[in-house]
Amino acid sequence: MLDRDVVVIGAGPAGLMAARTLKRRGYSVAVLEARDRVGGRTWNGKVADATGVEHFIELGGQWISPDQNRLSELVAELGLETFQRYRSGKSIYVSPDGTRHEYEGTSFPAAPETISEMDRLIEILDDLAAEMDPARPWAHPRAAELDSISFRSWLEGLSSDSEAIDNVSIYVASGMLTKPSYAFSTLQALLMAASAGSFSNLVDEDFILDRRVVGGMQSVSLAMAAELGEDVFCSSPVRELQWAEPDPATADELNCIPADVRNGLPNNGSAGSVKAYSDQVTVNARFAVLAVPPNLYSRISFSPPLPRDQQIVHQHISMGLVIKVHAVYETPFWREDGLSGTGFGGGRLVQEVYDNTNFGANFAASESDTEDSYGTLVGFVSDVHAEEMWHLPPDERKDAILTAMADYLGPKTKEPIAFYLSDMAAEEWTRGAYATSYDLGGLSRWGHLQNQPTGCIYYACSDIAAEGYQHVDGAIRQGELVAEHIAERI
Ligand SMILES: Cc1cc2nc3c(=O)[nH]c(=O)nc-3n(C[C@H](O)[C@H](O)[C@H](O)COP(=O)(O)OP(=O)(O)OC[C@H]3O[C@@H](n4cnc5c(N)ncnc54)[C@H](O)[C@@H]3O)c2cc1C
Repeated sequence: MLDRDVVVIGAGPAGLMAARTLKRRGYSVAVLEARDRVGGRTWNGKVADATGVEHFIELGGQWISPDQNRLSELVAELGLETFQRYRSGKSIYVSPDGTRHEYEGTSFPAAPETISEMDRLIEILDDLAAEMDPARPWAHPRAAELDSISFRSWLEGLSSDSEAIDNVSIYVASGMLTKPSYAFSTLQALLMAASAGSFSNLVDEDFILDRRVVGGMQSVSLAMAAELGEDVFCSSPVRELQWAEPDPATADELNCIPADVRNGLPNNGSAGSVKAYSDQVTVNARFAVLAVPPNLYSRISFSPPLPRDQQIVHQHISMGLVIKVHAVYETPFWREDGLSGTGFGGGRLVQEVYDNTNFGANFAASESDTEDSYGTLVGFVSDVHAEEMWHLPPDERKDAILTAMADYLGPKTKEPIAFYLSDMAAEEWTRGAYATSYDLGGLSRWGHLQNQPTGCIYYACSDIAAEGYQHVDGAIRQGELVAEHIAERI
């Protein structure tokens, strides 16, 4: 049993940043983490080859883009270093008919009319994204309208070039929200673009997938947890949160309905009395920070139950689904052919591949300032393709995925010395990847509630961030912001 100013639930980047900021301001904290490790969806892993050599892989979030400056500052503050993704040489585009094209620069070698159609659609999206404040997408003048139509239908209303539509939609659909483009709204797509600065930024893989942390992105969370020391409690899933006293006048004796807080509390965000029950410790605090993805809020039993607004909203937010593929080779063989390792193909089983060769010391290798001699490719199998793959026997799945990657980089791709698939959908404390988004109409209807505290409970997660939405940068910003709001209230 502990007494603290603030109990933080979840030791991902958001929760740890909230706790770090509060502790630095002189407030006492306890961070309760369900898993036996910190870092959440950032996770340093290994895969062994047949000779027993272990290779470093990042099972979750890894890339930082140049606009993600709050994360970059923190990385430097923590004494960590970054390195740039390898990108020299030609990229590959596989068109819908299966033809493989090598190209340089950022423009696809598609037919000129398809390219000009893509440029036109991207310009429209850039203009709309520029009108949006990513902290208040629901306040966009056309929010309700843009939220009532799926991204796919909206693009189809603008163009009849299906290749252009496929290529434009992958930047948000399979590439970011990891849901089919018919399953989320245009407003949600614009939030993704606005949170990254523009739609054009999403299109530019050299921007969006720019740098990685030496030793892996989880090192950011490990370093923050090391600073917090004994205030972090792993293997401590929070099962119950007592957070408010219902007003007895709300009871409905006639229908045997006990008093509750269905209409909310006055003074949301002010200090209260909260008790978090986890498997290891119970924490009494004045504030709680719920730093878990919104799809997991309902795993906690709130006492009293949350107000009706929250109960409804949380049911309209769901995780995307993506398999992150790691394939390790004796050497980065594609470079010998003048290829960067980058490949794209809208709608294909593996819609994107990149050179993901490691650099510097990590927990599988200790060479600092040196690139790993082994070559690593990373690929992504998104949404409906991911579902198909999980239903195949492992050998068939591996073969299908490597065959699809070989369409980009040639037959040698089919002979990795080590192969691994990241599976966050099967993780009890994540349940999907990369992050959550609203169903059609949800963002304009309920988005304004997602960052509002409920009583003394604050919400912090990359999935409800403005800048850096769905990214580690957004998680860091959210953790810091919530800590500042709490400090003001204290
Ligand atoms: C495969 C993959 C690739 C990605 N690639 C990138 C990338 O390249 N760049 C990028 O910036 N982002 C990427 N992301 C997204 C990024 O990892 C997330 O945005 C970020 O980790 C979110 O941080 P968070 O703290 O908000 O949530 P999380 O990282 O999910 O942390 C939440 C924590 O809460 C814990 N928890 C849940 N329920 C409870 C409970 N009841 N009690 C206690 N603890 C609980 C969880 O175990 C977890 O540790 C990727 C994600 C995935 C899955």
